[in-house]
This record gives sequence, C-alpha cells and structure tokens, in this order.
Amino acid sequence: MRTQWGALLVAIETPPAPTWPPAQLSTHLAQQAADDVELLVADRVPLTLREHPAPANLSALDAAVRVERLLFDAADILAAAVQRPVERRPISHPGRPVAWAVDQADAADPRRWLYASATDPGSRQHGLHWAAMFIEGRLLDEDTEAEQRAGALTRGPALFALLPEHLAHEAIRVAGQAERLVLGALELDRRESVIEGRPCPWCSGELTLHTDPQTAPSITCSTGPACTAPAAPDRHGRRTWVGAELVELLVALDRPAAGRAA
Ligand SMILES: [Zn+2]
Repeated sequence: MRTQWGALLVAIETPPAPTWPPAQLSTHLAQQAADDVELLVADRVPLTLREHPAPANLSALDAAVRVERLLFDAADILAAAVQRPVERRPISHPGRPVAWAVDQADAADPRRWLYASATDPGSRQHGLHWAAMFIEGRLLDEDTEAEQRAGALTRGPALFALLPEHLAHEAIRVAGQAERLVLGALELDRRESVIEGRPCPWCSGELTLHTDPQTAPSITCSTGPACTAPAAPDRHGRRTWVGAELVELLVALDRPAAGRAA
C-alpha cells in the first residue's frame, strides 16, 4: 500500500478515460525507476488525502477514502491494545505534597500513535503512510520488551507490548482488504485488457496487457509464432514483452512505421 498510495492519489485527479500508455504500465515503469534511485517517500511525509472539490476519478477517491479509514481505525485498535500510556513523574517541592506531571518527552515520542479528537487529527495528520508503518511495526513486535532483550538494550520501559494473536490476524485481514481496494482502483489486480487501437507493430495482431499483483505486467501478441517481433514466445507461442522489453515495445508503438517489418 505504501508503494501504490501515491499512484492512487494521482489517479483521483486523473480522468478514467483510455490513456496511452495504460496506467498499469506507467505505474509499473515509474515504480521501477523510483526503486532504482530509492526515491521512495520518507516514512512520515504527509502524502495525505486532500479535499477534492472535483475528483476526476470517483472510484479511485472512494477506494482511497475507504483504505484510509480502514488503516486509521486499525491503528487506533492496535494502539489501544499495546501502546504504553505516557509516563508520569513525581514533582516534589519542600513542604508541599508530591504532584505528578506528564513526561513530555515520553508523550512526544514520535513512535506513538496519537488518537484523533474533536479538535486534533492526531497521527491521522501524517496520512496513510505513517498509519501503515505503525501497523507494520506492531506486527513485527518492534519496540517491545522482547525486542529490547534480544538486542541487549537497556532503555526505559518498552513503548509497546507484544501484539495478541487475534489482533495480528485482524491487522493482516485489514491489510489484505486495503490492498485489494488499492489494486482494484488502479486496475493492477489480476486482469487481461485488450489494447484498443494499437496493433502489434510487426504483424498488426491484437495486443493484450496482462496484469497480476504477484508478477510484473506483460503484453502478448495474439498472432502466435508467425509474428516476427523480436520478443520471446510464452508457453502458448505468443510473442511476449515483459520488464525492460515493455519500454521498447511502447517506443515502437508510438512510432508505428519504425517497427513494421512489412
Ligand atoms: Zn505481433
């Protein structure tokens, strides 16, 4: 979700009209470029869902709103279960009873999840990215006493308790639901789409885009072994472009005359 969230925010402002190249491909290729140069957003950059007075893609906005709510609610539940309350320290003045004050440094610990109130969005102001990081941290038992012991660290009391098993299951279920919403909205779920109006530059056959969240996208030509394209065939004998070859195919499709054998 963290890697696709930016793409979903862009999609909200992009009309769902047929565009070239298909959004699934441009997302994938842009992501590859981002991975290469480690351009991924910093953990707490507020890549937040803004007010959209006129969203161009309502289904993308709907998915983003639902995913945000799912993750924020999940972070609230996990924090309520395992986040240690803020420490209080005694303040003593001679001749006066001991008073207790909130430990400001502990309260301001950036690893804490802060609940929303009527006047303060709390950690929600940092957006989905931070909520996802927080949930992942709890699933990995980060900053727990067990982790401190394993690392032979002697810090103060651990900020989080171990996540109970039923909440770990719940967090994984919510993450899966959110993932399906994001992938579906970006059309990155498993599907095959015929590329309209742009036939194979080598044989004029019909091209099909295959997407699947588990594997890289690919494009196949329907003609089979008779197609003269310089691409390896898949198990059905269809010329197949995948990975870096997709870039070459997109270039050839944008300049149809250059690639044609005929
Ligand atoms: Zn072909």
